[in-house]
Amino acid sequence: MGQSSKYSHIIKYIKSLFPHHDFIPLHEPRFIGNEKKYVADAINSTFVSSVGAYVNQFEEMMQQITGAKYAVATVNGTAALHMALLVAGVKQGDEVLSQDLTFIATANAISYIGALPVFLDIDKKTLGLSADNLEGFLQEHCKKEGGATINNKTGNRIAACVPMHSFGFPCEIDRISSICKKWGIPLIEDAAESLGSYFKGRHTGTLGLLGTFSFNGNKTVTCGGGGAIITDNEELAKLAKHLTTQAKVPHAWEFNHDHIGYNYRMPNLNAALACAQLEQLEAFVENKRELAAQYKAFFQEIEGVEFVTESLNTRANYWLNTLLLNDKEERDTFLKEANSSGIMSRPAWTLMHKLPMFSTLPHGDLTVSKWVEERLVNIPSSVRI
Ligand SMILES: *Cc1c(COP(=O)(O)O)cnc(C)c1O
Repeated sequence: MGQSSKYSHIIKYIKSLFPHHDFIPLHEPRFIGNEKKYVADAINSTFVSSVGAYVNQFEEMMQQITGAKYAVATVNGTAALHMALLVAGVKQGDEVLSQDLTFIATANAISYIGALPVFLDIDKKTLGLSADNLEGFLQEHCKKEGGATINNKTGNRIAACVPMHSFGFPCEIDRISSICKKWGIPLIEDAAESLGSYFKGRHTGTLGLLGTFSFNGNKTVTCGGGGAIITDNEELAKLAKHLTTQAKVPHAWEFNHDHIGYNYRMPNLNAALACAQLEQLEAFVENKRELAAQYKAFFQEIEGVEFVTESLNTRANYWLNTLLLNDKEERDTFLKEANSSGIMSRPAWTLMHKLPMFSTLPHGDLTVSKWVEERLVNIPSSVRI
């Protein structure tokens, strides 16, 4: 099959999966449960802002879904990451290990604190932080000194490690977790994309000190804008809740604040939407996994196209279905043909180390990230219920 007819074959197949669309988006939200009922209820209660029953219910649901002891609702996923880094003790001038292939929010949150992201390579199979690369970087460039891990070259403290579960595929989080434990580095999972994804039966976000989620409009479930932090550490959960609510000391009428706080609490209006969406999470993920199974069977027969699948011992939510093509030229041809045929398809995020804000920072070996960036495309992945 020639390249052009190969792509028209793929385009025709994707169209057959979404027959009722003129334009097929990458991931559109579905509001087919109690969304309108709960939002109307929040409005009728007059509690639309950062205090209300739905915010508490949302936190309880997140605890139940993930198995974490505590959940703290936030205004978005970026704020959740910022707060998680803060309560984990990351300070200005510290270094935070993360991956080169991620959405900008991961690196931005690190930067808000004045800490420096150190971009490491990803694993070719999981597309998340490579445990080998992490271990290699620590052994080669770092030393333990008085309980802290120090970067030999810069003299800065390594204050946290933030792997990301790319497109909903769980990364090698058990190995990453044990490496972080060995080096005494707090582990924060950016699980923004992996709600409903599990590693050896444990929900992503629960294998480190803290985990964070996003409920942005393009995620598996959405509340317009929203986020959550999860942890088993009571002290950190309390601190996160306190700092996200302007660090106000509880009192019936007095306004006292004991820290520099943030207005990061999720509004009740959004939480109402979030609760209705979370009720449908399992159904949505099941539906997305059926779509992924169809894609997998189809792409098995197509030469030069690798459909990315979940790794052994993991259950992926298949947030965004992912293809690896032969090279950059084929990637660009595919993107052009798909997008001009009404099928939304997009490349990987530009690698973090290439962005002007981060291009002068030292980073690790990035061979796999560069290889993947040239070949990766995401294809339509919406829930079809
Ligand atoms: C979506 C996302 C976030 C958070 O995004 P918000 O829009 O702030 O909710 C963070 N990290 C990654 C990897 C994401 O995909």
